[in-house]
Amino acid sequence: MGNVNEVLEGRYSRQILLPRIGVEGQERLGQTSVLVLGCGALGSVMAEILVLAGLGLVRIVDRDVVEPSNLQRQALFDEEDARLCMPKAEAAQRRLRLYNSHVRIEGIVADMNPGNVARFLDGISLVLDGTDNVETRYVLNDACLRSGIPWVYGGSVGTAGIAMTVMPGLGPCLRCIFPDPPAPGSLPTCDTVGVLGTAPHLVASLQATEAIKLALGDHSGAGRLISFDVWTATFTAIDVKRQESCVACGRGRYEFLDRDALSWVTSLCGRNAVQISPPRDSSLDLSALAETLAEVGQVAFNGLVLTATLEGHDVVIFPDGRLLVRGTTDKTLARQLAARYLGY
Ligand SMILES: [Zn+2]
Repeated sequence: MGNVNEVLEGRYSRQILLPRIGVEGQERLGQTSVLVLGCGALGSVMAEILVLAGLGLVRIVDRDVVEPSNLQRQALFDEEDARLCMPKAEAAQRRLRLYNSHVRIEGIVADMNPGNVARFLDGISLVLDGTDNVETRYVLNDACLRSGIPWVYGGSVGTAGIAMTVMPGLGPCLRCIFPDPPAPGSLPTCDTVGVLGTAPHLVASLQATEAIKLALGDHSGAGRLISFDVWTATFTAIDVKRQESCVACGRGRYEFLDRDALSWVTSLCGRNAVQISPPRDSSLDLSALAETLAEVGQVAFNGLVLTATLEGHDVVIFPDGRLLVRGTTDKTLARQLAARYLGY
């Protein structure tokens, strides 16, 4: 048995051989704490790469459970996870701890919103965007600018992908390029046009590479907007300028953090599901709730999340108080169910 350093140098020997990394770079990776926000096709692949690469801390925040339709493209999950409705953050954490016991891994089942984003950023060196909706990215952009934390934007749909590093104070931010979020429903989503697994995997590889570069102090990716199509194998990279007039990074107004966090309603990526988040951080006693709801509907509790059929609607309830209503895009209906059964 060698000492810990010899074990680690053996484990990361191929990476250490790279002149850009070396032993010193490997040590820097080991001191870097990353937040992976969202653990779908992008997040699961990024988390896997960074855990294998030996980062210090990988914190994964995801609000959702594993579904059968995820298995075609998402890393880290299996059929059993889908059958049990396992929260993705929990399933990812369990799997990743088997991959590399030298990395601190934190799986957090929660929905990032203006009210709790600061908590997830605490102690974090950089953030990787694996979110599935536009609104959350604007919240993340504001929160990272305010805290001076770099983040790597990424998105993928169909056979196309896009990625860019946002480095506060150095390059453009999300709002320099897209000043306002597009109207709901105006963009294609994985649920309306589909997605080939290779496209998000490639985006995730680019984002994870940017994370490793940032950890090593290489900021050359800031403001470089990369887009591609895997089917035609066409890539473009353009250098985007920072806009002095940008509301967020130019004028320092973080409009997406100022929003009233009063129950936050989100339609999930055109996924035929609506989520209601509680107005503030909360925690539910799900086993007690399971007993109550068993009086009015069919209920199953797997120890982590509660699934139920209420008034004919499939709902999932999370320990942080979120309610996910499946099979509908009707926000009013979702609000009614949240009010009726959870009191908000
Ligand atoms: Zn900006």
